[in-house]
Amino acid sequence: MKMYMGGEWVSRSKTVPVTNPFTGQPFDSVPVAGVEDVDLAVKSAVRGAAAMRKLSAFDRYEVLMKAVGLLKQRAEDIARTITAEEGKIIAEARTEVARCVQTLTWSAEEAKRLYGETIPLDASPGNAMKFGFTVRVPVGVVAAISPFNFPLNLVAHKVGPALAAGNAVVIKPASDTPLSALKLTEVLLDAGIPPEAIQCVTGPGGSIGDALVSHPDVRKVTFTGSRDIGERICKTAGLKKVTMELGSNSPLIVLPDADLIKVAEATVASGYGNAGQVCISTQRVIVDKKIYVDYLDILTPMVAALSAGDPMHESVKVGPMVRERDAERVEGWIREAAHSGARVLTGGERSGAVMRPTVIADVKPEMKVSCEEIFGPAVAVTPASDIDEAIRLANSTRYGLAAAIFTQDINKALKFALEVDSGNLNINGGTSFRADMMPYGGLKDSGMGKEGPRYAVEEMTELKMVIIHR
Ligand code: NAP
Repeated sequence: MKMYMGGEWVSRSKTVPVTNPFTGQPFDSVPVAGVEDVDLAVKSAVRGAAAMRKLSAFDRYEVLMKAVGLLKQRAEDIARTITAEEGKIIAEARTEVARCVQTLTWSAEEAKRLYGETIPLDASPGNAMKFGFTVRVPVGVVAAISPFNFPLNLVAHKVGPALAAGNAVVIKPASDTPLSALKLTEVLLDAGIPPEAIQCVTGPGGSIGDALVSHPDVRKVTFTGSRDIGERICKTAGLKKVTMELGSNSPLIVLPDADLIKVAEATVASGYGNAGQVCISTQRVIVDKKIYVDYLDILTPMVAALSAGDPMHESVKVGPMVRERDAERVEGWIREAAHSGARVLTGGERSGAVMRPTVIADVKPEMKVSCEEIFGPAVAVTPASDIDEAIRLANSTRYGLAAAIFTQDINKALKFALEVDSGNLNINGGTSFRADMMPYGGLKDSGMGKEGPRYAVEEMTELKMVIIHR
């Protein structure tokens, strides 16, 4: 596909292939943008932002709702594109498109809710004749940098609120998965978004990222991706608003009064969806010693029964990882854990980019499969003596995006919610739950700022204070 910038679809002499992770075969290509393209795209977006400011809130609502209609019409084509470039199973790709419909719908609705408030200035001494109110205005140009793992919906989580708030947006999609973002761009343009209000620039983040995030005409950077790239962007962006949605190694705590079948089902759903490449995947399961063996006895056959392979086949439950080298990394970490005393109860083998769903028991917190973000289809299980030790283990990480507990004891559930440092806290549900309208974002090195359209429009607007001196 071509990329979209400066109000037109353009190609460049240098291109990069888009590869199907399961077959390993390239099936499309996109242009490699240079830093001069980034400058042109941002300057065009400045004009796009001026065009957006002329649209009323109702205009913005209408155009986004039209995009929702077009997205529904193109759902199957876009789902197949997601599976082809990202590798998630087709059922998950269809779910991602359905979620994107929700994200854009919520964004459209937020266009109508950019409220300010009156400020009672006469409540401060000597200001009886002052009258004040706030107004929310768009920031102007938003740079949106997205990861590979939800190549449609995580782009929509940036683009939808940016446009709803009246901004222009420059998208830099992940190089492994640019097609879904380009197809979303097409949908928005066909719906009637002003031509320069959206730009989708393809090319390696390593070579064009700095030019985009440091550009003086970009006022807001919203990034979803890995911790280290996020930190680099924060340093490069300088005095700009930033939202950082970064990685995690989410813990799930199991107490003795939990329904172990429910817990095992939640572990499977939360641990192996999208081949474990979800920022809120369950990675660490911390299980009370009294039920440790019982839990593993229930979980292991469930995981062993998951079929792994071609993500286009409706019966396959776990597809390939996005790149073979990532599957090799996960395989290496599992082997390293096994050499250090952990037990691989099922899985551990790899065929190309397809990693067999894996359960590792007796994992020590200092093993990489526990303390680093594995981002693959493997769950690390560790015993704990009681809830205090479980919470201590859950918190012994630099990350804090999502956590879960299974218990019937309301006091212990509340203790978990108050004491575990995490953005999302699930009680009797897996870590990977996300409804697209909820506030979503991590603590500690998992990031800062929130997504979810209502919260993202706040991050993508400025609050102005108006004072009338009477
Ligand atoms: P990544 O390697 O950090 O890449 C993310 C994006 O950053 C890509 O578009 C990438 O472009 C770009 N990039 C790379 N270097 C850059 C630079 N110097 N300046 C600006 N942009 C740059 O992450 P990923 O492998 O795609 O995604 C996996 C990570 O994302 C995991 O850590 C996961 O936990 C996290 N994630 C977090 C959330 C959340 O909501 N918290 C959601 C999903 C994923 P190229 O592709 O061209 O390199």
